[in-house]
Amino acid sequence: MGLEEVELTMAPVWDREGQSTRLLKASEAIARILALAIAVDRRETVPLNLAAGRVLAEAVRSRLDFPHWDNSAMDGYGIRAADVAAARPEQPVALEVIEEIPAGRAPMRSLGPGQAVRIYTGAMLPEGADAIAIQEEVMVLPDGRVAIPTAIAPDTFVRKKGAFGRSGDEILAAGTRLGPAEVALLAAAQCAQVTVFRKPRVAILSTGDELVSVDEPALKPGQIVDSNRYALEAFIQQMGGEAIALGIIPDDREVLKQAMERAIATADLVLSTGGVSVGTYDYVETLLGDLGAAIAIRSVAVKPGKPLTVATVPKAADQDNAQNPGNPCLYFGLPGNPASALVGCWRFVAPALRQMAGETVNPEAGRLRCIAAAMLPGAGQREAYLWGRVELRDGQYHFIPAPGGHNSGNLVNLVGTTALAIVPVGAGAIAAGDPVEVMVLGAGLAGLSA
Ligand code: AMP
Ligand code: MG
Repeated sequence: MGLEEVELTMAPVWDREGQSTRLLKASEAIARILALAIAVDRRETVPLNLAAGRVLAEAVRSRLDFPHWDNSAMDGYGIRAADVAAARPEQPVALEVIEEIPAGRAPMRSLGPGQAVRIYTGAMLPEGADAIAIQEEVMVLPDGRVAIPTAIAPDTFVRKKGAFGRSGDEILAAGTRLGPAEVALLAAAQCAQVTVFRKPRVAILSTGDELVSVDEPALKPGQIVDSNRYALEAFIQQMGGEAIALGIIPDDREVLKQAMERAIATADLVLSTGGVSVGTYDYVETLLGDLGAAIAIRSVAVKPGKPLTVATVPKAADQDNAQNPGNPCLYFGLPGNPASALVGCWRFVAPALRQMAGETVNPEAGRLRCIAAAMLPGAGQREAYLWGRVELRDGQYHFIPAPGGHNSGNLVNLVGTTALAIVPVGAGAIAAGDPVEVMVLGAGLAGLSA
């Protein structure tokens, strides 16, 4: 990328001291992140009952037609359309019923002129039958024949062999995340096991001297619970990753460095929270440099979550894996504030994690144009994210922001968040009733990880 291009992707902002600095635009940050998030290089075969939430590593073709044979879509009578072409209510056509075909039983005879079969939903049509007269619209005569009162077009209520899919067709592409519909189709195609990408291993580091674990008997003044660990663990599981929580790391350079090294060695992706601002105890970026990382992003023009560090760190080749040390580790240094950390995950980590899981990612998928149900404040030269939910009101999608302040430390009103409204750079506030672009969280995820 040339210098000029870099300039264009930066937005000027003013820091607390009123100094003009230049920050990366969110869209450019996403582009850089997607360029660095490489699908895990290991695959595994899993039985179909454990495949939901996983991502296919290979395309799947079916050896079967769908439907496998012509079958009935309704309970009724299999007939020959030509036999009843002249049927009228005042002059019905009577047909001889030669056989009963419930689902699961192959027809014994083919249908000749003037004949019908009693047939049920999903049952095979016999040779010669080409339409279904539904049982509600026929009359069974005392002699056992069936009277058809109207003409019926060929193919009526017939599911034709191969109409939904043909043998040899690709039924699922590599990169598809499997949900209930996909595993059902795989089952129907007799794929008892599938080849999927190994789940990305994602290490979580919570940095900060103030942090204690959830079961701390009594919080001392200045202490808070490490809630980010739980937020990130849940997020990672939802995105189909394997979370490895490495605990609370104090603001101590050496201890943090060791923890980061351990995280990088064991994981495909590392998410650390805290320590990425410019405070005295914010070591993450410096340490990444010490560990030989290539820093791709230092901070992004967004609110909340401006201090975001993204880097790749080469993996040391180990004895087991001297030839192929694997992909470099992707490192995200997220801000410590709970809302900033989660918003950063939703906006920046989610596309990376999904792509590392092997999924084909469209970062624009899951965007909705909504009406702002209340005023949405902007953040000047930063793209602003407001958390809330989407509701259909009078036939239009409305974005309802969470009540109260959208403060980066406010976990309380973050609950119930299913969508983020995006107020663009320089847009000022979006007035209630005006259109706003909204990211629906988790949109496109076919299924949750097991
Ligand atoms: P930092 O980014 O380290 O400056 O932290 C910013 C704010 O986030 C501080 O108020 C921290 O106490 C809070 N914070 C940092 N880490 C966590 C965490 N793991 N869980 C909850 N809050 C945190
Ligand atoms: Mg801190």
